[in-house]
Amino acid sequence: MPKITDIQTIRTRKNGTWVFVKVLTDQPGLYGIGSASDHYHARTVITAVETIAPKLIGREAGHIEDNWQTVYTSAYWRNGSILNTALAGIDMALWDIKGKEAGMPVYQLLGGPTRAAVMAYAHASGEDLTELEDDVRRYIEEGYQVIRCQLGQYGGGGFIPAAEARMPKNLHGQATAFDDEAYLETLPKMFAYLRDKIGFGPKLTHDVHEHLKPHNAVTLAKLLEPYRLFFLEDLLSPEQVGWYRLVRQQCTTPQAMGELFINPHEWTPLITERLIDFVRVRVSKGGGITQCRKIAALCEWFGVQTAWQEGGDNDPVNQMAAVHLDLSSTSFGVQEENHFAPEEYDIFPGHAILEGGYLYANHSPGLGIDVDEAKAYAILNPELATQSFYMAEDRRSDGSIVRP
Ligand SMILES: [Mg+2]
Repeated sequence: MPKITDIQTIRTRKNGTWVFVKVLTDQPGLYGIGSASDHYHARTVITAVETIAPKLIGREAGHIEDNWQTVYTSAYWRNGSILNTALAGIDMALWDIKGKEAGMPVYQLLGGPTRAAVMAYAHASGEDLTELEDDVRRYIEEGYQVIRCQLGQYGGGGFIPAAEARMPKNLHGQATAFDDEAYLETLPKMFAYLRDKIGFGPKLTHDVHEHLKPHNAVTLAKLLEPYRLFFLEDLLSPEQVGWYRLVRQQCTTPQAMGELFINPHEWTPLITERLIDFVRVRVSKGGGITQCRKIAALCEWFGVQTAWQEGGDNDPVNQMAAVHLDLSSTSFGVQEENHFAPEEYDIFPGHAILEGGYLYANHSPGLGIDVDEAKAYAILNPELATQSFYMAEDRRSDGSIVRP
């Protein structure tokens, strides 16, 4: 049985925001790859992996569950974003090793495929309704069945220009203000327009990015009910999930939540009380395949579906881990898509293929994806990688922050 001999990190993407864990074993050529990317704290995650590594060196690579529990409890405090990410990177690499050892793809180890391919949803957006409609139609033509519809970026549809926002006289340098009522006015009109133009065939979603105050979030869910969304995403911030009970009492709009979740106490009540319809934990932030396969199993018993988070800053290895879970989980609902640059895809031989609204895995043993380290380092801009990155900052008319 292979034993862990070393745990290394690989940092890449032009700006250095992708981090991968490489677990090496005492068997020649047998290693595993996992995703430990954190757009805002790449260097912190690398330090966490380096701190954890000595605890695992010399242990059996195949004792995945025991290794997971060992790392999970090794810092006493647990369920934090950074340590979960480091743990997930190691965990994915151990599943990759076990698959290579068995000569099977990870989805086979997880019980075998329950579907032929993974239905993905597209991200359509536009600065106005016609632009959005064009983008939605483009994705329909590409084969997508589920399409997320946004007006611009985070909070789009809820911003009013500074000149109209009646800001305090001592507030300067803020070009727009997010306004709950503006958002409540815009979004129902957006879906009325789209349903009028494209009908009820395409499955549509929308991401609120947690921008609304809780009582307005309940109102929005109710106002959108006639447009029969596939799901409404991130209606509430993680701190306000108790309001999902009111949403359930008020309307049938399906709810997707959880991309900011890192703690079982966040997702367990929402699943077991059937307060959401789709759980959206990011595989690496939830603690890897070991943790997320348990979430998927929990979802099955309560009729909740999985929609593991991907999107902008995620990486092809985390995407591949999600695809293996998607293929093998009965509770799978839909998978968020990613788009990577050609030179980025080139770093990851075996990456998932996105075509006609479906993601396809290959049938190679393990996760089926590798990191070409020479290409990974060639693309990295060391100067950019020293910069700090921060979440976009939206504010209301009085200058107070909108919690994303
Ligand atoms: Mg979201």
